[in-house]
Amino acid sequence: MRASQFFIATLKEAPSDAEIVSHQLMLRAGLIRRLAGGIYTWMPMGLRVLRKVETIVREEMNRAGGIELLMPAVQPFELWEESGRGPQYGPELLRFKDRHQRDFVIGPTHEEVITDIVRREVKSYRQLPRNFYQIQTKFRDEIRPRFGVMRGREFLMKDGYSFHTSFADLEREYRSMHDAYTRIFTRLGLKFRAVAADTGSIGGTGSHEFHVLADSGEDAIAFCPTSDYAANVELAEAVTPQKIGAGETAAIEKCEKKATPGKTKCADVADFLNAPLTQTVKAVAVMAGSAREIGQFVLLLLRGDHELNEIKAQKLIGEFRFARDEEIVAALGCKPGYIGPVGFNGRIIADRAVAVMNNFICGANAEGYHLTGANFSRDLPLPAEIADIRNVVAGDPSPDGKGTLELCRGIEVGHIFQLRTKYAEALKCTFLDEQGKEQIMEMGCYGIGVSRIIGAAIEQGHDERGIVFPAGIAPFAVVIVPMAYGKSTMVKTAADALYAELLAAGIDVVLDDRDERPGSMFADWELIGVPHRVVVGERGLKDGKLEYKGRSDVDATLVAADEITGFLQ
Ligand code: ATP
Ligand code: MG
Ligand code: MG
Ligand code: MG
Repeated sequence: MRASQFFIATLKEAPSDAEIVSHQLMLRAGLIRRLAGGIYTWMPMGLRVLRKVETIVREEMNRAGGIELLMPAVQPFELWEESGRGPQYGPELLRFKDRHQRDFVIGPTHEEVITDIVRREVKSYRQLPRNFYQIQTKFRDEIRPRFGVMRGREFLMKDGYSFHTSFADLEREYRSMHDAYTRIFTRLGLKFRAVAADTGSIGGTGSHEFHVLADSGEDAIAFCPTSDYAANVELAEAVTPQKIGAGETAAIEKCEKKATPGKTKCADVADFLNAPLTQTVKAVAVMAGSAREIGQFVLLLLRGDHELNEIKAQKLIGEFRFARDEEIVAALGCKPGYIGPVGFNGRIIADRAVAVMNNFICGANAEGYHLTGANFSRDLPLPAEIADIRNVVAGDPSPDGKGTLELCRGIEVGHIFQLRTKYAEALKCTFLDEQGKEQIMEMGCYGIGVSRIIGAAIEQGHDERGIVFPAGIAPFAVVIVPMAYGKSTMVKTAADALYAELLAAGIDVVLDDRDERPGSMFADWELIGVPHRVVVGERGLKDGKLEYKGRSDVDATLVAADEITGFLQ
């Protein structure tokens, strides 16, 4: 590539709304431009990086036996009704109607669509197992898109889905995907860690996330340096059982006595309890409107609701907006007298609020609250050692008895799940076994945040001059910077010859023939993060030398002109 024929769009200053370094540098280096909140154009320079990440992901998925396909971004909402996920997913799901008033969504994920394909196409155990994947644009109407492409609304994901005749076979594929992910993130040149994880709204049982380790990460991870133990603290919050204390029971009873069904508002409850009225409580008030939810107000008031911010509260409204009680019970599959997980992330609070509400529906009183560590939709018992890390501090013993825990922050770049039969059952995705008997398929799903990876890589790789890309994903591997390309025939001839030689050697090289001031050319390529720079100047050429500098090197070194290609390979 010749720089004069490409498009370089570097900026001196980052726009002030870019909060973290990767977002600032991606804008300054001209990799992305914002169109709307959480929606970005991949500029030519950025697209080169995105394609390189995609290629590594694709190669390793193919090597692991994945079969690529491409599903539509637009999905009929009926499929989401069929899977039962429609009402649960909340406002992150972008819905719209076509001209015939039919409901559609822009896919935030594709479990429903792939299951629909497989139920139509795969009939026999002989066609299984299969692992389909795509690299495709997703849309999630994130409440607070931020950090550039790290939490976008439109983003590129690799999503894969596997189908099996047995759980044992799903477990085998899950391990194989775990290994493939390890290869992918290693090849991408990232410092990462696989951690035990919560399954979120995708549902299912076993699950691991892959985190790029960075202080700006939104997730907290507890890990043991001397063993394999690593878990997302969110998971512990999601599964840690908590009892309703005597004080809380008394408060609930007090409110029940004072409240008038259909009339009492949250503000009144706050008043009865002499407690502050918070955002969360206001949010809950929007969600429901009868005496039933008094219990949940009370609990929310009493339990750390001050820790909740508006985002979480918004999410709480969203998850069950417009749902009727019966729908909530059906969506969650919860039983009378059964209360789910407690903790302080938005989804869990929503679960808890609904569970408490269900208890009221079911006529259970505060006494009857039966707390367990399992989630409504998950019937597997959760490992006790995970529950212990909720309030962990560095240096606490580890749950597996093999050392002490440390804490770090991570950016979730990959997530694998054992979905089991959740979707296959809802969508009747079955096969005929060897005896000709109809069975439900076991399913796994495997996501990678392809576009998020680039932000995460920059969080790990940067200095005061700009991006320090891992070699495998830099937009160019080598930049040739000629001194006075337009003025010196000697330099022009040598630079053109070197450019041709490196191209012929299969090296991804850019020739900066823009003939700008050397300082500004150097600054551009350091900002963009190209790993290797070769300067072609008259002074060196007279001795048969070129000046080489690696992106993180302090000083340049002289390399014989006839050895440079070998040196760069
Ligand atoms: P998060 O916890 O960060 O919201 P998630 O758990 O909702 O992510 P998954 O449903 O597991 O995301 O999707 C698979 C992958 O897609 C994630 O591991 C992440 O790398 C990526 N991803 C999810 N949401 C976004 C987003 N808003 N912008 C960019 N990438 C995303
Ligand atoms: Mg999310
Ligand atoms: Mg997550
Ligand atoms: Mg996830």
